[in-house]
Amino acid sequence: MAEQDGFNQSPPYVDVDLYASDLPLKEAVAANGAEDEALLLAAFGRRWGAADMIEQARLANENPPKLHAYDAKGFRRDTVEYHPSYHHFMKESIGANLHASSWTAEGARENAPAEVARAARCYMVAQVENGHLNPVTMTRAAVAALAREPSAAGMIKKVVTRHYDPSFRPWEEKFGLTLGIAMTERQGGTDVRTNVTRAEPATDGYAISGHKWFVSAPMSDAFLVLAQAEGGPTAFLVPRFRPDGTVNALQLQRLKDKLGNRSNASTEVEFDKAFAWRIGAEGEGIATIMDSIQLTRVDCAVGSVGLMRGALAQALHHARHRAVFNKKLLDQPLMRAVLADLALDVESSLALALRLCRSIDLAAGNEREKARARLLTPATKYWICKQAPAFVAEAMECLGGNGFIEESAMPRLYREAPVNAIWEGASNVLCLDVLRMLARDREALFAVLADIAKTTGDLPGGKVAAGFVEQSFNNRGGEFAARAAVERLALLAAAEAMRSASSPLTEAFARTRLANGTRATYGARGLTREETDQLIKRALPE
Ligand SMILES: Cc1cc2nc3c(=O)[nH]c(=O)nc-3n(C[C@H](O)[C@H](O)[C@H](O)COP(=O)(O)OP(=O)(O)OC[C@H]3O[C@@H](n4cnc5c(N)ncnc54)[C@H](O)[C@@H]3O)c2cc1C
Repeated sequence: MAEQDGFNQSPPYVDVDLYASDLPLKEAVAANGAEDEALLLAAFGRRWGAADMIEQARLANENPPKLHAYDAKGFRRDTVEYHPSYHHFMKESIGANLHASSWTAEGARENAPAEVARAARCYMVAQVENGHLNPVTMTRAAVAALAREPSAAGMIKKVVTRHYDPSFRPWEEKFGLTLGIAMTERQGGTDVRTNVTRAEPATDGYAISGHKWFVSAPMSDAFLVLAQAEGGPTAFLVPRFRPDGTVNALQLQRLKDKLGNRSNASTEVEFDKAFAWRIGAEGEGIATIMDSIQLTRVDCAVGSVGLMRGALAQALHHARHRAVFNKKLLDQPLMRAVLADLALDVESSLALALRLCRSIDLAAGNEREKARARLLTPATKYWICKQAPAFVAEAMECLGGNGFIEESAMPRLYREAPVNAIWEGASNVLCLDVLRMLARDREALFAVLADIAKTTGDLPGGKVAAGFVEQSFNNRGGEFAARAAVERLALLAAAEAMRSASSPLTEAFARTRLANGTRATYGARGLTREETDQLIKRALPE
């Protein structure tokens, strides 16, 4: 007997078309105005689902970056060395313009459906290698702040090229640039007003002194940094090299030994009178970086749905091949109930994320969509990123013991799952943000709520959920109930998004997630057999 016969194991899940084999993705892309991208997205899906990409992802994560703080003679080097597989992914993603496709060469917003088309690609990439998406995300997000500063135009032009140039030299000499964001300090990442890093005026710019506790992608060419100037918290751009061509005073002190996200480097950095340009006015740093932060939040949500889809596809693939009691797992009624519930979370989260991207695409000429994007960015990030860890754990269990083994893709997805909820605004912070925004811009945001309530009012649980959200948001002291309210808001918006994408599972989603207020585990949420069959058929990779 050949060794592989009779093993009852699923074959490797490789050489998959990540676009063509994902019906809910194709429907959500079309519903959000990007149907003309279908052929390009299909080519992208084939490329990213190829066996060699899966192997590169393993290598990039099993060979984490190395810090070279000093050279052999004790001189500071302050560089990080990455495995070639990390560079491979950066080259692929920057070559596909994921770091800049939502910007024009001048740093203005690209026309619709740029945001939706980019999100569809990032969702596919996250299924394969999520770590390098961090510098891709930060680069595209930082442009929003840079674009406020006319003198940064030259740098933006070099960001929006499709060249990945990892060489360590002054930005003026390079063919393409990446950008990082360094806000978090030891004493707090949420309340950045308490930052102690100082900025003093210096020749042609400012000198930044202080410590940043988390700085990811430290080999970026420049960093958006928040520091205290005389006028208060202010945004700065700190390049790796000073304008005179010498290395800027950023001392990389330590690499974080992280739970996941291991292909990507995160460092602790000491700024020792580092040269910086100011971005925006002194004291307006938080307003200056806010658009960038919002964009990073969108990417976190999209990335987490990608991780969830990656885990679901592994579970479905295994269940299709593995037999138990003489029947494939995929044909066992109880496993079908679990898989269908998982598939519904991916389908609804994807619809929600891409509908949010549609709002961003339309925001420039449409005040209602602009308000919608403001309200739903934190709510979408909160709800999707919050689901991911429990979701991946359940999907892992579908593979039985094999899912717990490092060579399978599941442990990496599992370790990666919590990070998007933590950074760029942890869950409570996002809920508080929703409350703050509602207090500040009440009329416009309540109008968005009214729209969502109207279009979901006839769905099971729709009216009650909308009433609960409105009541909670009307109670100004409602921090304690904020998670419940923001969760319901996200669920309502997801139901609305599914309906606008003509998903046949909209009703099932509302009945099992909105009407049924108590959280049950996967497989216990009351989907019918017919809905279960339909969900599995839609989610099953080719
Ligand atoms: C892998 C990784 C990479 C990172 N890379 C970067 C980077 O490149 N640049 C950067 O600037 N930062 C980076 N960060 C830092 C990250 O953004 C922060 O960890 C995050 O913003 C949270 O800040 P904190 O860790 O100081 O937690 P805290 O601010 O102390 O928050 C702790 C908890 O308290 C909750 N909380 C806060 N305020 C309230 C409140 N009022 N009521 C109720 N609950 C509240 C939060 O939701 C959170 O759960 C990175 C983090 C990680 C894990």
